[in-house]
Amino acid sequence: MPATDSAPVIRFENVVKRFGDNTVLDNLNFEVRKGERVTLIGPSGSGKTTILRLVMTLEELTDGYIYIDGEPFTYEERGGKRVARKPKDVAKVATKIGMVFQQFNLFPNMTVMENIVEAPVHVLGKSKEEARQRAHELLELVGLSDKADAHPSRLSGGQQQRVAIARALAMDPEILLLDEVTSALDPELVGEVLSVLRNIAETTNITMLIVTHEMQFAQEVSHRVLMFDQGRIIEDAEPHVMFSNPREPRTKAFLQAVL
Ligand code: ADP
Repeated sequence: MPATDSAPVIRFENVVKRFGDNTVLDNLNFEVRKGERVTLIGPSGSGKTTILRLVMTLEELTDGYIYIDGEPFTYEERGGKRVARKPKDVAKVATKIGMVFQQFNLFPNMTVMENIVEAPVHVLGKSKEEARQRAHELLELVGLSDKADAHPSRLSGGQQQRVAIARALAMDPEILLLDEVTSALDPELVGEVLSVLRNIAETTNITMLIVTHEMQFAQEVSHRVLMFDQGRIIEDAEPHVMFSNPREPRTKAFLQAVL
């Protein structure tokens, strides 16, 4: 368990997100400390994926601020005004963040190795040799050492997702965002992906923000679980409390329906 006084690595301050008239997140405040693994649960449409997409800068904030490592991310307050930060400053902070998606999103025309070294070489400016060496280590970590030269279409969904995890880790992110990473998989392939993630959780200190329907997995790897309903956190608890003795009737009803 990360020390309770460790610095927040992600902080949402009065975050508002609207799509047209639909207010998805309404003045949301929360923080995630360094090394903490936090899972977001709640009914479909409650705003969980939107939170990850905001952190990944795939969605624009309607109002409020996100801080990464204490630094304002996409917007900052200057002279009492809320102003957008320069794209180059945003990009610098964004290199601290990696994301794995439901649909893998691998480059189909590249081999596994090329997929993994692409961003470290072109974004971080690593040498090809250094990037390849790290990629080999990561392929070993995800159990795919023998697939470096394969194209994604030759791999099972579970293998593709493990490559996507290796690709995200190749950027040495401080924060890993996992968005329903097993939802697109056939049931028999879910276990191998979760087992790789468990291993990463056990052997690294990487901060994780997780959206998943796999409640057993959430219970095992999370330090903290946030229950969302209509864009608000209605309960914030350690997993053993959230899953066995939730306080809120809406949490109870949700867990009864999914467990
Ligand atoms: P969850 O991950 O909890 O299922 P989402 O964050 O995906 O919820 O969605 C929250 C709400 O935002 C839903 O009402 C959804 O329809 C809406 N939404 C998400 N993305 C978009 C978009 N690109 N355009 C319009 N509405 C969106």
